[in-house]
This record gives sequence, structure tokens and C-alpha cells, in this order.
Amino acid sequence: LVYMDYNATTPCDRDVVNEMLPYFTQMYGNAASIHYDLGWYSKTAVDNARKQVANLINADQLEIIFTSGATEGNNLAIRGVYEACKSKGNHLITCKTEHKATLDTLEHLQRIGANVTFLDVDDRGMINLDELGKTINKETILVCLMYANNETGVIHPFAEIGELCKKNKIMFMCDATQAVGKVPIDVKNSLVDILTFSAHKMYGPKGVGAVFIKDGHKTDIMPQITGGGHENGMRSGTLNVPAIVGFGKAAENAMKELESNANSKLVPLRNQLEDFLIGLGEVKLNGGNVKRLPHVTNISFFNIDGKRLLKSLNKFLAVSSGSACSSASLDTSHVLKAMGISSETAQSTIRFSIGKYTTEDDIDFAINKIKGILASLRPMNTKT
Ligand code: PMP
Repeated sequence: LVYMDYNATTPCDRDVVNEMLPYFTQMYGNAASIHYDLGWYSKTAVDNARKQVANLINADQLEIIFTSGATEGNNLAIRGVYEACKSKGNHLITCKTEHKATLDTLEHLQRIGANVTFLDVDDRGMINLDELGKTINKETILVCLMYANNETGVIHPFAEIGELCKKNKIMFMCDATQAVGKVPIDVKNSLVDILTFSAHKMYGPKGVGAVFIKDGHKTDIMPQITGGGHENGMRSGTLNVPAIVGFGKAAENAMKELESNANSKLVPLRNQLEDFLIGLGEVKLNGGNVKRLPHVTNISFFNIDGKRLLKSLNKFLAVSSGSACSSASLDTSHVLKAMGISSETAQSTIRFSIGKYTTEDDIDFAINKIKGILASLRPMNTKT
């Protein structure tokens, strides 16, 4: 099976696992029990990981809060701002193609009284900045717009959104789960106030993530998990030291790879696959005409049974239809729907997301398999 679902999750790097291992069996102290060496080792390891994670996005270590992942991060940011800033206003803005961790959280707030605007996107998956500007009003407290979409890889105008928010004195929260470690992100030289991300999308372990909260903004966010006051009171709970250590190492690796431009190696591989698929005809590339992540291609196949296509592909290729994060069922993807794609077409839409372990052989293998599968499922099509 060739793995082409790096947006769903990535394998852990070997050196990440090696860094984590001693913290399970040898250096197992509680990072908050620093009166003896064992606890101190853990605290030091967490401090080091915080530096590594902060470095990757050019933040200060004190601006990093460790969480259990981006779902928790988005919950902390959105619920936290809503609770802390209620007296300033009741309006929050997002768009229809955000991850469910954002949309569900905002829908919950809507049920308990918040006024939430879900902006439309165009057929490329882009928001309209003028519309965003017009939607902002005196009651607006938060704009939640992701950096890059998990299904299509489409990149939002991050800098422009930040400027609009700054101009209107509104907080800007960005779910950058799919972008951190893939494209350079520099929080110091941008206007984002809160940024969420996750280790398992960048060759780190699952179940650990981080929220960047710009210095001075902690009072604008109400903690959602209360208790022993860990993470500066922003997120209580004994720290998952091995996972945090692994996250740190993964961030360090990602930083090196960003500097060496290793990710640019992905573009030719992705393009090879994409060009082949487009050349087949009876397909459409979704989100093709805008800035996109280097490793994602989202393709609708026409005149084919989507369920059979995915089932046949999955015998050889780990790819997903719609969003893997919520596609245990073949529900129509809300992202594709918002882009104006019919539910029938969405069912036969496949997301290919490659990563640093993808080889040219993998691409050739995928191309050959796809050719065969399309020929058998579309017997009348002479092109395949
Ligand atoms: N946001 C985006 C854009 C994602 O792609 C994901 C993971 N699919 C999440 C949030 C949730 O992240 P986690 O799995 O760390 O909770």
C-alpha cells in the first residue's frame, strides 16, 4: 500500500520516536515536580521542546501553550475568546470551509447565543476579502480563518486577513494545522493573534499540539481546562512529556527541512501525479487556480461510481474522499459543497496528499494503478 494521505496524518520520524523513548521508562518524572532531579529532567525537556516549537513559527517560548492537538487548540481559542471577550461583543466570523473543529465549536456557541457569520467561498475555495471587511461590525470580537485547507490545500490570504483585523482591532485566530512545517510561518512578522497546530501532521506523535497566543493576549482567552494551573494557567493537566519532547524534535526537523527547502521536492512529484490525472480528461482539479500547499491535489473524477472508485483505490493507495478527519462515512464534504460541487461529484472526489517519504516510484505506482482502475470502472472510456 502506498501512503498518500499525509494530510490525515504523517508517520513519526524515527529520530522523533528515539527522543521520546527515555521519557516513558527512565525520565518519567512529572514536569511540575521540580524539587528532585527526575522532575527537573522532564521540566527541562519540556522547556527545550517549547523552544523548538516556538522557533518553527518564530514565536517566543512563553507564547506557546501545549494542548492535546489542534481540535483542542481551536476549542480553547474560540470558546476562550468568546467567554473572555463577551463584554466587548457577541459576533464571530469564520468561513464555510473551515475544519469541523472550528465549525462545530462555533455552531455550539451560536446555539448558546453567539452571532456567527459563516462566510461563503468561491469555486476555487477562496473567501472574498471585501465581504469579510463588510461583515466586520462593532460587535465582532474574533475572525477564525485557517491558513490552508485540509481537503484542497488552498491557502487563505493570511497577511491581508491580519491587516483587516488589526485595522478593526479584532483578534485574528488561524488554524494553521496543515501549514506549519510545510510553508514558512513567522508570527512575529505577521498580524495573527492566535495560531493552532498539531504534531501529527508534521512527523510528530499524535495527541499533542500547540496554541500560539501572542504576548499580551492571554487575558483575552478564558482557559477551558481548569485545574492545577499548568501552562501558565491556560491549560491544566499533567504534561504529556514524551509527546511534547517528540513534538519538539519534529518541529526542529521541520525547521531544518523548511530551511533546506526540502518541501519544494514535493511540488514536482505532486505535479507529476496531477498532470497525469488532468491529462486523462473527465476530471477537475479543485482549488487549482489559487495559492496552494505544495503536496496536495484534490481531483473530481466524472462518470464514475465514487464509492467503487475509492474502494478500488484503497486496495493500493491510502487516499481519502473528502475530509479523512470526518469521513468515516461517505458524507458529502462540506468543503467541496461550499465550493459549489454537487454531492454526486464530491463522492467521486479524491484527495491525494503526499509527504517527505513519497518517492518517484510511489507516483509511478499510483499512476499505473489509477489507470487500470479507471479503465475497469469506466469501460466505455477510450481515453483510459
Ligand atoms: N484543523 C485542521 C485544518 C486539520 O486538518 C485537523 C486534523 N485533520 C485539525 C484541525 C484537528 O487536529 P487534531 O487531529 O490535532 O485534533
